[in-house]
Amino acid sequence: MADISPAVATLMTVLKDEFPGVKLDAGNNIQPGTRHTSGIALDIMLNYKNPSDAAIGRRIMAGLVKNFEAMQWSAFIFTVRNPSSSAPVHFWVRGADGTGYGGHKLEAGNYTADTRHEDHIHIDWVNFSMKNTGATYATNPYKQPPSAQRTGFDAALKIFLKTASDEEVDAILDTMFAKLPTSTPKLPTPDWARGWWKVQQEGQTYYYLIDAKSGAGWTYDRPASQATSMSNKQNSGACTFGAGGAMKISWTPLTSNVSTVETFKGQGSSLTGSSNRGGPLSAEKI
Ligand SMILES: [Zn+2]
Repeated sequence: MADISPAVATLMTVLKDEFPGVKLDAGNNIQPGTRHTSGIALDIMLNYKNPSDAAIGRRIMAGLVKNFEAMQWSAFIFTVRNPSSSAPVHFWVRGADGTGYGGHKLEAGNYTADTRHEDHIHIDWVNFSMKNTGATYATNPYKQPPSAQRTGFDAALKIFLKTASDEEVDAILDTMFAKLPTSTPKLPTPDWARGWWKVQQEGQTYYYLIDAKSGAGWTYDRPASQATSMSNKQNSGACTFGAGGAMKISWTPLTSNVSTVETFKGQGSSLTGSSNRGGPLSAEKI
């Protein structure tokens, strides 16, 4: 067993401050030896099936990528949903060069060997060439590489986790996930559909923002104008468009494996719609 490395300890301090409800497990006291026992790995307990965990996971992953130059982690592993099929997508993301991990830097690759990482992000600073030998290997298999001594990333990571917009998080992860089936193909949105809509259903009012590439988001916060950006986004979805003002939105499943699918039709700035989950919908362009 080794002490928790400075990099892991620093990451733990930042995450504890920012997400006090998220359990962290360095696991450096568990035998037989693993990279956890060597003090160079951390499990961040978040279940991809739980929407608030998934959202925190996205923010943390984007923060890890954004601060990679300072952190020099070796890899992390986690799971997200394929929004089209709702199936889990297991993936790993390789960081620092020369650690023995395969794959392209900061690009998520399918991780089919192991499906255990559905309830936590595993991150480590391992370098597979820095093994301990003899009896030590059984209890403490890896030496802590120089990258695991890094601590100076805490302030920037903290600021990112606290203040990054959802759009910034999404943009970082869209690049990271470019090769995986984690987003539906993004086709241009027709002009009539693009922008903010006020949507009503069963006496409730929601505000939908349709972006330029067939993405949808919704919030309870009324936008001041079409130029207002999304705040307090509740969910994301993907749109498909048909002739004569037809628009179908498939929302990401949050509490079950079934998507909410809404189908709208109408003319120009006023649509009526139906949902597989609730009552009739009306939508007015703001
Ligand atoms: Zn782990």
